Amino acid sequence: MSRGILFVISGPSGTGKGTICAELLKNDKNNLYLSVSSTTREIRSGEVDGETYNYTTVENFKQMIENGEMLEYAMYSGNYYGTPKKTVEALLQEGRNVLLEIEPQGALQVKKMSPEAVLIFIVPPSMQVLKQRLEDRGRETEEQIIERLEAAKWEMEQSPKYNHIFVNDDLLECVREVEETMRDKVIKRDLVDKLLAEKY
Ligand code: 5GP
Repeated sequence: MSRGILFVISGPSGTGKGTICAELLKNDKNNLYLSVSSTTREIRSGEVDGETYNYTTVENFKQMIENGEMLEYAMYSGNYYGTPKKTVEALLQEGRNVLLEIEPQGALQVKKMSPEAVLIFIVPPSMQVLKQRLEDRGRETEEQIIERLEAAKWEMEQSPKYNHIFVNDDLLECVREVEETMRDKVIKRDLVDKLLAEKY
């Protein structure tokens, strides 16, 4: 069994990357597993502890960093977010393809450690649309929205370091493009495995 592929999806808050990941997991043809991150941010209504995130305290989070339990981590909007190393590594070893939905500070740590990871960046069609989407979902205060739009600029500046950039204008079209890119990676990985096992 060959090692799974590590896919990373980033994009500014409000670009719809969460929805894209949920769509990718529906009718999944790519043997994907969405990694559950740990965070110190407050749980929001509709979120499930252990499913959306593993919610923890700053103290616990710092302890996990110290113990080397994080594959990557970052501070975003005043809260810590991080990916559990053990689970992701075990899944990759089992041949599962793992999807991380994380912001760029973390994504670039992953790229440094695992240059074979496939980094995908989602951009909105315009800043106006991004602002509108953040306002429509009504999760953040006006002040937090401004903060997220400011963060979006730095995040988008990191996009050239990613392997692929997609525009989320039409959701299903964007999902289709991302899915095809992933599918291509999986097919080529399987082909190379087959070639390596062939006798000549
Ligand atoms: P939210 O608070 O809206 O759920 O997430 C805020 C940001 O943190 C999003 O850009 C999300 O992709 C990112 N994020 C979620 N989990 C992780 C993680 O484990 N590591 C990093 N670096 N970013 C994460």
